[in-house]
Amino acid sequence: MIPYEHDEWTDFSLPENREAMKEGLSKIKSELGREFPLIIGGERIETEDKLVSVNPYRKDQVVGKVSKADKELAERAMQSALETFETWRKWPVHLRADILFKAAAIIRRRRHEFSAAMVYESGKNWLEADADTSEAVDFLEYYGRQMLELDQGKTVISRLNEKNEYFYKPMGVGFIVPPWNFPFAIMAGTTVAALVTGNTALLKPSEKSPVVAARFVEVLEEAGLPPGVLQFIPGDPKEIGDYIVDHPKLRFINFTGSRATGTRIYERAAKVHKGQKWLKRVVAEMGGKDTIIVDKDADLELAARSIVSSAFGFSGQKCSACSRAILHQDVYDHVLNRVVELTGELKIGDPADPDVDMGPVIDDIQFNRIKEYIAIGKQEGDLLTGGETDDSQGFMVQPTIIAGVEPEARIMQEEIFGPVVAVAKGKDFDELLAIANNTEYGLTGALLTRNREHIQRAREDFHVGNLYFNRGCTGSIVGLQPFGGFNMSGTDAKAGGPDYLLNFLEAKTTSEGL
Ligand code: GLU
Repeated sequence: MIPYEHDEWTDFSLPENREAMKEGLSKIKSELGREFPLIIGGERIETEDKLVSVNPYRKDQVVGKVSKADKELAERAMQSALETFETWRKWPVHLRADILFKAAAIIRRRRHEFSAAMVYESGKNWLEADADTSEAVDFLEYYGRQMLELDQGKTVISRLNEKNEYFYKPMGVGFIVPPWNFPFAIMAGTTVAALVTGNTALLKPSEKSPVVAARFVEVLEEAGLPPGVLQFIPGDPKEIGDYIVDHPKLRFINFTGSRATGTRIYERAAKVHKGQKWLKRVVAEMGGKDTIIVDKDADLELAARSIVSSAFGFSGQKCSACSRAILHQDVYDHVLNRVVELTGELKIGDPADPDVDMGPVIDDIQFNRIKEYIAIGKQEGDLLTGGETDDSQGFMVQPTIIAGVEPEARIMQEEIFGPVVAVAKGKDFDELLAIANNTEYGLTGALLTRNREHIQRAREDFHVGNLYFNRGCTGSIVGLQPFGGFNMSGTDAKAGGPDYLLNFLEAKTTSEGL
């Protein structure tokens, strides 16, 4: 087995790669409006009622229509998953892993098609879409290998005349609820982690990005995933979400998304229903209010670039995005001016255009929410750049910087999930760190400094799950920077890390007297 390696991002400065991506875009464009069925027990089911996925840059352009599950279909999906679990859980692990490796190979061959689908459905620009595709491949390659390793079990001590063993078993049926912001990578990663460990699952993609998910499920089928292992059930969360979460036969939930939904799922899943024989396990990866600290002796150009790319990459719609920059008073003016200057150089527009740095935000709900936060921000600080919004054609929000903000301000405390960064000042390193930690979240953070003592202090005291030094705070890579946060950012499952698959397994001990 070749060792795991991160799938390289495409170099779009090469003409052949630009051509290949353009072909991907044309292919997806020619398929706009395509319909996708539900898949339950391998059977394709069309429903009258459909989710209509639109291009956030051109809201009158329909990207695809996806059939919608109701409660009855959700129940059928559950029954199918329960039945298939009895065979799938006994499949040799290496055969389960092979399906992931095969799926990764298929995606690599058609990578630009998937990236193009995200350009249209999610408004990702070329680089962001390409990185999302790479991350999906990475999850497949990494979790496949991780499971092969876990299959060896762990060593426990045997004694004379007593043989002890310790190994991992799948749990049952899982409910996979991924977000729309990494519509391929996180959707694929959270799904295959549950499957390669021997569980069966119900996948409800985000209603904002069902088309990319439908295409991925087709790949899994092509790679040989047996019918009934994964049920594809897009739907309205209000209609089927609670029904599945409450189901007494559901064993676990793998959720990534908003704090409001995550905490709601966590609470509901704690209740034991009639006929339920276990406590449900919940992985809930939620939001962030992530900070970049710039110390007084930092590389200031690197600092400014890190803030701009982390704040405005994919319009700030990452739970890892930099939404707070906290600058040492000695470098405050310099860094801030440079951040404003660099922001002014960003090209905003159609994400299908290769040179565009930032496209739209995902939909009208987010658009209005971000607009409200900009209005709040204008009361709480000084608007230095951006602030304008336009939803006449798509959901466009200009990259926005609001400076001179107090640590307790709402835009310093609440997750906005858009291209808005709040900037505050601190008088020394203690204060910079205190402001950074003054949040209920704890997902990512970055410290720019040349002071090794401060790096050491941040290792101990900057309370985030993913802490970066002298770089931005987005862009974790599978296997290199396992991803997950503290406090209200979630259960710290560390996706893409060596412990992640244990979330979907139970350990069993056997002991035999000899
Ligand atoms: N893993 C991504 C990153 O490091 C963020 C994931 C998310 O936004 O949910 O940027």
